[in-house]
Amino acid sequence: MSSNTFDAVVIGAAIGYELARKGRRTLNIDMLPVAGYGSTSNSCAIIRLYCSTLDGCAMAYDGYYWKNRADYLQAPEGEQLASFNECGNLIMKTSLNDGLRKQLVHLDALDIPYEHWSNEQILARYPFYNVSNFAPAKNLDDPDFGEPTGGELNGAIMFPRGGYISDPQFATRNIQLAAERAGARFRFNSRVKEIPTHNPRKRSRITKVCTPKVGALGERLIHRYAASLAI
Ligand SMILES: Cc1cc2nc3c(=O)[nH]c(=O)nc-3n(C[C@H](O)[C@H](O)[C@H](O)COP(=O)(O)OP(=O)(O)OC[C@H]3O[C@@H](n4cnc5c(N)ncnc54)[C@H](O)[C@@H]3O)c2cc1C
Repeated sequence: MSSNTFDAVVIGAAIGYELARKGRRTLNIDMLPVAGYGSTSNSCAIIRLYCSTLDGCAMAYDGYYWKNRADYLQAPEGEQLASFNECGNLIMKTSLNDGLRKQLVHLDALDIPYEHWSNEQILARYPFYNVSNFAPAKNLDDPDFGEPTGGELNGAIMFPRGGYISDPQFATRNIQLAAERAGARFRFNSRVKEIPTHNPRKRSRITKVCTPKVGALGERLIHRYAASLAI
């Protein structure tokens, strides 16, 4: 097989890593200059397992490898990795989020741990917290901004498996390096402009991915490895 043929052309460092460590020859394409520069670089870095859908919760739980990240990435001794602080997530129960009732159904189905905390428990752990109700949200220039609106929270849900990471973009760069160690290749500054299929209405096999001529990766090169492409 030539060095320009691939089993899969993907956008996404983590997908590239998972495929590469299963022995697939992968090419990661990204229109930005480095890994993790998309929405990921703007993320608030919160790691959480509660989502609005069962599939979302399952994916988050399945990918919860943060504590053993060096092992997961097979990082060499001394490689600097984004750090993870597993401080848990504390979500207040309000009438607006209905106490996360819908999300908890998914967590129960997947056996994801969580605890109900009373207002007293919140204050015992976080004495600085104000458990008064402030809803609805107001603009800063509203004269009633920051004024309690009556009543208190209904407690909170504590998710012990959760926390935050030091730098989402750097965490993605860690994954890129792991993927490259597993044999994946990366091309940055390359925008996918078309993924043509023979018959768009049928589920045709995709045989090529087209990018404009940007940097080293042009449509001509894509055509050369299109023959063995399967994504
Ligand atoms: C303000 C904000 C805060 C957030 N906070 C959190 C948080 O705390 N916790 C959390 O879990 N989630 C958070 N999120 C959501 C989270 O950031 C995103 O769900 C996640 O980063 C999406 O990752 P992604 O890899 O799917 O997409 P992205 O990181 O956007 O990556 C998509 C990649 O695809 C590339 N690409 C797109 N089109 C093409 C093309 N045609 N050709 C080549 N390359 C292409 C882009 O260049 C980019 O690199 C937040 C989002 C925002 C906006």
